[in-house]
Amino acid sequence: MNEAERREYLQAMGIQYWVPRPAAREEPVAVDAAVSEVAPVAPPAPVAAAKSAMAVERQSPTPDDPPPWLDEVPPPADEYLPSLDHGEHAEPTDLMDAGVRQLDWPGLEARVVQCHSCELHKTRTRTVFGTGERNADLMIIGEAPGVDEDRKGEPFVGRAGQLLTAMLKAIGLQREQVYIANILKCRPPGNRDPRVEEALQCAPYLQRQVALVRPRAILAVGAVAARNLLQCDEAVGRLRGGEHQYHGIPVVVTYHPAYLLRSPEQKAKAWQDLQRAARLIQ
Ligand code: URA
Repeated sequence: MNEAERREYLQAMGIQYWVPRPAAREEPVAVDAAVSEVAPVAPPAPVAAAKSAMAVERQSPTPDDPPPWLDEVPPPADEYLPSLDHGEHAEPTDLMDAGVRQLDWPGLEARVVQCHSCELHKTRTRTVFGTGERNADLMIIGEAPGVDEDRKGEPFVGRAGQLLTAMLKAIGLQREQVYIANILKCRPPGNRDPRVEEALQCAPYLQRQVALVRPRAILAVGAVAARNLLQCDEAVGRLRGGEHQYHGIPVVVTYHPAYLLRSPEQKAKAWQDLQRAARLIQ
């Protein structure tokens, strides 16, 4: 990836760089998507992506030292954290329908289209099954369809989706090279948080998707995805950076792109998480 492309991707993500002021001045100055002499962000290095049948060239980043200013970023606002009551949360695998566990892609997709397991089928326009490379190394798991996704039947097509696409590009991945799905396949009305029972009813579908894709890593974007996959109640700020697994597959937790749109100062942390995910699939 050349310098101009790298700047374009980082600019699309809204990542700020810091460059030193001229010698006479000591404090660094922020410049959007300018090259930092203080804290260079390592450019993704080309790697062979063998697994995908698409065999699209993929690039991944090399590890870099976190720039010192990352520590100055404030923690996420509590208000963003959805309130899932995990006290009553049973293991989704307990509810795994034996039928779903056997389904192939067409069967699973057909089952989701017909699903009436929870109330959300009454208000949905379309089910949002999942999209992308079914043999992907990296699977992205979000929360639930929003208004745009409900209309189109595809995950992450709204503003948050555009940022997600830019985030993927920043680690050298085209959107078509990953598999993208959500905890819920139907839109909660008014974009409210998924309810525990809805997530539980939907869990077998996602579990089967993960089993079929067999990714080398999962990127859980946002608290709803992370909490449901990891069966916990922690904030993203606490989960990110930790070593987690979902049915034996490494899970990297990061902020939801919609949250990053509201809190761009957290993008630097998301960038670190993305690089971790990229390393896992190298
Ligand atoms: N937010 C999500 O978590 N998923 C989508 O598909 C769209 C927005």
